[in-house]
This record gives sequence, C-alpha cells and structure tokens, in this order.
Amino acid sequence: MTPRKIAAGNWKMNGLAAALAEVAALNAAHPAPACAMLLCPPATLLAQMNWAAKGSNLKLGGQDCHQDASGAHTGDISAAMLRDAGATYVILGHSERRADHGETDALVLAKAKAALACGLIPIVCIGETEAQRDAGTTLQVIGSQLDGSVPEESTAATLVVAYEPVWAIGTGRTPTIAQIAEVHAFLRARLTAKIGTAAGVSLLYGGSVKPSNATQIFAVPHVDGALVGGASLKAADFGSIVAALSAA
Ligand code: PEP
Repeated sequence: MTPRKIAAGNWKMNGLAAALAEVAALNAAHPAPACAMLLCPPATLLAQMNWAAKGSNLKLGGQDCHQDASGAHTGDISAAMLRDAGATYVILGHSERRADHGETDALVLAKAKAALACGLIPIVCIGETEAQRDAGTTLQVIGSQLDGSVPEESTAATLVVAYEPVWAIGTGRTPTIAQIAEVHAFLRARLTAKIGTAAGVSLLYGGSVKPSNATQIFAVPHVDGALVGGASLKAADFGSIVAALSAA
C-alpha cells in the first residue's frame, strides 16, 4: 500500500476572516494537486473555510480536540464538533500543546481514540527536544511517544504521524537529511511492530519546512509529506510546498 502524500498547514493561533483570501488564492493556483492539500485553521475559521473551499480539493483539519464526546468542558472542542464544521483530520499532541498544556502521551492517545470514534483522522505529532537530541536519546523518545500516543486499532486509512523535532519548529533550523531519514525509517519499523503494517501510513516531517527546502525533504525515504506552520499562512509559500510534494 502506498502512503498518501499530504501537505498539511497548521495555522496555529493565526488568522481572522480576512485570511480566507489565502484559501481562495491557494485553490485557484492549485485546483488539482497530486497530493492531499490540508489546512488546519483556528476553530473559529473552520466552518467559514469549509464554505470557502466548497467544491475544491482542499481538506480541513482541527488543531486539537477534547477526549470526551461532550460535557462540561468550557472552552474545549469535541471531535464531533470539528467534524460538523467540516474537518476530516485533527492535529493531536503538537509539541506546543504538550508544552503549554502539559499534554501527556496517555491524553493524546485518548484524544486520538475520540477522533477515530467520530471518523476524524488523527495527525499524531511526536518529536524530541534539543536537549534530548544532544543526549542521544532521540529514537528512544520518539519511540516511546509513538507507543504511548497511537491507538493500536489504527490502520493506514485512519492514521497520520508527524515527526516534528521541537527545536526545529518555528526556528528556521532543520535536522540534516540524514537525521530525518534515520527517524522516518525508525518510525516506519516501529509502527509496523505496533499496528501490524505501517506500509501505507503517511509519515510527515514538520519543522521549518519552506519552499526552499521542501523538495530536498520530500526526497527522503519514508517522508510522505509535511506538517507546515509559518509557511502555510501565505498561499504562495504553501502552494510552492504543495507543488514540490506533487512533483516528488
Ligand atoms: C508546526 O508548528 O507544526 C511547524 C512545523 O511549524 P513551522 O513550520 O513554523 O516550523
């Protein structure tokens, strides 16, 4: 089974209604990309973006969901709400949520199960800090995050994993090609041990992906696409990354 190629944009806490112009520009420039093109806007924009993207190939995702289906959780959003607003994916366990909100592997796992129950595809994020890389524990750290965060019932159709070294997010720094290759090969093997076969699971790289480095990163074995932060905010930049992945 061949993994889906996915270019996913994470807008984080950026974007007001005026930013929907970027979606129109992206769709106009890339009406039929040879990869999945996905944007994960703030929840406030999801339904509007869904309307703006109607009839296009753009897919939508949330940036987080609660582990419960409903209830007294002021300020939180359920997987069903994201689905209702037009999402088909949800980013879970992003390092900013792990750091800012103390999210553990067990919580990410519970959220991933909630997403699956609603038919959302979780994009489970894992990655080492700079101190962990310097200490030589990268594979140990991401192996343990993968084991603890990914539901065992996942299949290639219901799981995306994003390797995002924490020190590369929003810093302009990226690992070497050899480092990305090492981690992605490790992830493919570790996932196979966990869920049976991981041949078709999309493994994304994330961390300072931009138009100038996308082609080189997409040539790395077992890299099936990217999770993009800053460079996903502008249609021209994200479109270049979509084009690079389409050509890979
Ligand atoms: C991210 O937040 O997932 C990310 C990869 O950000 P950036 O591309 O800005 O490094």
